[in-house]
Amino acid sequence: MRVDLHTHSTASDGTDRPGELVRNAVAAGLDVVALTDHDTTRGHAEALAALPEGLTLVTGAELSCRVDGISMHMLAYLFDAREPALLAERELVRDDRVPRAQGMIAKLNALGAPVTWEQVARIAGDGSVGRPHIATALVELGVVRSVDDAFTADWLGDGGRAHMDKHETDPFEAIRLVKAAGGVTVFAHPGAAKRGRTVPEATVAELAAAGLDGIEVDHMDHDPDTRARLRGLAGELGLLVTGSSDYHGSRKTCVLGENLTDPEVYGEIVRRATGAFPVPGTGGR
Ligand code: AMP
Ligand code: ZN
Ligand code: FE
Ligand code: FE
Repeated sequence: MRVDLHTHSTASDGTDRPGELVRNAVAAGLDVVALTDHDTTRGHAEALAALPEGLTLVTGAELSCRVDGISMHMLAYLFDAREPALLAERELVRDDRVPRAQGMIAKLNALGAPVTWEQVARIAGDGSVGRPHIATALVELGVVRSVDDAFTADWLGDGGRAHMDKHETDPFEAIRLVKAAGGVTVFAHPGAAKRGRTVPEATVAELAAAGLDGIEVDHMDHDPDTRARLRGLAGELGLLVTGSSDYHGSRKTCVLGENLTDPEVYGEIVRRATGAFPVPGTGGR
């Protein structure tokens, strides 16, 4: 069984429509895929409506968090998307992305890059707007060669010249909110050092004590040493270990199913969740 628990669609900064994403998941030989757009569940309905036979959808989201000034991402699975407190927090984070993007555009303009809000809004479409959309605009304008090249200190990288913080949830609060909505939490790419400062192991231990369920170990941004260290940490702290592609369509180089989660771990996530069930595809029947 091939299980990929972390993907993005046009509901955030991926390039596949949710319906395309589930069709591509089948083509990639997946049996289970989680749709985890940044701070939103808006892609779920379209993914469910298009869900092919033989593929099971795990509903989820990737929540933007910050602890001790360090940005981090928390994957949340199988929570009740209507639960009001978590819904309000998702909306707060998502809505704050708009003025923040406009602020970053103003900084880019001051640096001589003629990007406009209209351009970024066109690229983002109905997705929750983020730096990858602005990075795509910079590529269109020829300011940088690739989306990755925009994530530097010169442009949009953490603390970079045109970077701005957005509202981000305290991860202890995120764990509490997701649990209250019947969901399961997995700390996304905790060792992704190229994205900026990473959360110290002592804090991961505190998150585990606060009810964190697992950590994502097999991820494109983790080298073999990092994976080995994180596997050891998960063992010490009694955390589940997941692996995922973090697929973003054509906006990143990774492919669906590039990293996978052990089916037994997937089973444990499903057992712990009470907010929603995985949905098997029927191919519209
Ligand atoms: P935002 O949520 O707007 O701050 O944008 C964060 C997103 O940008 C992440 O989810 C990644 O998809 C992408 N990202 C972050 N750091 C990098 C990087 N160094 N290179 C390429 N993409 C990145
Ligand atoms: Zn993303
Ligand atoms: Fe992430
Ligand atoms: Fe992601």
